[in-house]
Amino acid sequence: MTTAPADLATLEARFATALPELALPAQAAETPEPRLMVLNVPLAEELGLDPERLETPEGLGLLTGTRPPAGAQPVAQAYAGHQFGGFARLGDGRALLMGELVDREGRLRDLHLKGSGRTRFARGGDGLAALGPMLREYVVSEAMHALGIPTTRSLAVVATGRRVHREEVLPGAVLARVASSHLRVGTVQLARAADDVDLLRRVADHAIERHHPLAAEAPEPYLALYRSVISAQASLVARWMLVGFVHGVMNTDNMTLSGETIDYGPCAFLDAYDPATVFSSIDDGGRYAYGRQPAAAQWNLARLGEAILPLLHEDQEEAVAIATEALGEFAREYDDALAAGLRAKLGLPIGAEADARRLAEPLLELLASGHVDHTSFWRNLAAAARGDAEPVRGMVLDLPRLDAWLEEWRALGPNPDAMDQVNPVHVPRNHLVEEALDAAGSGDLELMHRLLEAVRDPYRPRAGWERYAEPAPADFGRYRTFCGT
Ligand code: AMP
Ligand code: MG
Repeated sequence: MTTAPADLATLEARFATALPELALPAQAAETPEPRLMVLNVPLAEELGLDPERLETPEGLGLLTGTRPPAGAQPVAQAYAGHQFGGFARLGDGRALLMGELVDREGRLRDLHLKGSGRTRFARGGDGLAALGPMLREYVVSEAMHALGIPTTRSLAVVATGRRVHREEVLPGAVLARVASSHLRVGTVQLARAADDVDLLRRVADHAIERHHPLAAEAPEPYLALYRSVISAQASLVARWMLVGFVHGVMNTDNMTLSGETIDYGPCAFLDAYDPATVFSSIDDGGRYAYGRQPAAAQWNLARLGEAILPLLHEDQEEAVAIATEALGEFAREYDDALAAGLRAKLGLPIGAEADARRLAEPLLELLASGHVDHTSFWRNLAAAARGDAEPVRGMVLDLPRLDAWLEEWRALGPNPDAMDQVNPVHVPRNHLVEEALDAAGSGDLELMHRLLEAVRDPYRPRAGWERYAEPAPADFGRYRTFCGT
């Protein structure tokens, strides 16, 4: 294989060196006709990569993994995971960790490719990804980042010129993604399943070094690590709930130790507010429904606790008691993070969390019973704080209940300008994502670029962009999403 000049990107191999048991050297599949579909120029610059060079053939070789820079050691990562509750040994079946790079601020970031060809973990899969789902991950992850929610980032999507066989034949693509790491709950689970305490300890040490360095100073570093992950995930899932994000496939292999959102397969944003909302075509039981996400996260964190038991105490019973006590903090941290977020969404000052909790409950019931558009309702509520309740009154059927609620809330003096800084105008609404992907499938990326422009500026309404702020048309129907495409 030819390599690209080393100065294109300096890639380290920290994961592969620290955890060789979990790093399988692998090569990307050739791309017959690579074509850059979208490049994240600000992110490239943040990473110290030259965006212009990324557009050249050698740049595309980096972004597809076909020409790794000299010295790079691309690997497929091994991990395990509870998938819809069932344990499985897994690994990157269609992805590669190209290596880590140090960004302009000195932070270590993974450069990872999805759709780069089969690895030994591919089992029956073809190792490929279709253009539509990779663009979908690109736009939704960039929207999450703009909303201030911890997430993996998207650097580029390159169409490969390969044909990918799904229900129909689709154009293939590779997504280049960036994360603070790809360590997952499932990474720890695999080390535990291997019954190798030394490996388990090295995984935990690697996670501490990369994500939770303060844990190294704590009297019990591994307990401190566990607590940090619990805390990061409690805060993350609260952020999802506040913005109406449904992850859709919260298997333990899709939950990071860093607290970044990862794996944008079947995810989607709520249209109408309803805790029972499920978009994923494979989640018949509603295990990962919008309203079940906090419980799903807690369940996954219990699996993490089980996996690190040998590091918590040599006596198993003691270790279980320690893990159980730590996990007990999840509910409190989640509730606190949610209450703080609701308080902000309601325009109330710091300290008014108890008011926010009391007011949010009947409000959310009203939204659920009236199938009210989540994003628009919250945004329109600021107008009610300014004295014009008609925008929200136009969205709710039970007006006597809404009016009584508004009166109680307005008596607390909500600040509409503060509300406008936390209640977005622009999220990647499902009908907008679909129209952009449809057009992209026919070679027209204009709508994708417009949608990206909207979601990258989530809090600012813009003249001429009203349709990007509006709920789905009534005939949009039930939205379905798919995994592993
Ligand atoms: P996901 O549900 O996307 O997190 O994927 C679960 C597992 O299936 C991961 O280990 C993926 O690498 C693997 N996988 C998904 N799609 C494919 C594919 N087309 N070819 C090979 N492996 C795949
Ligand atoms: Mg995954």
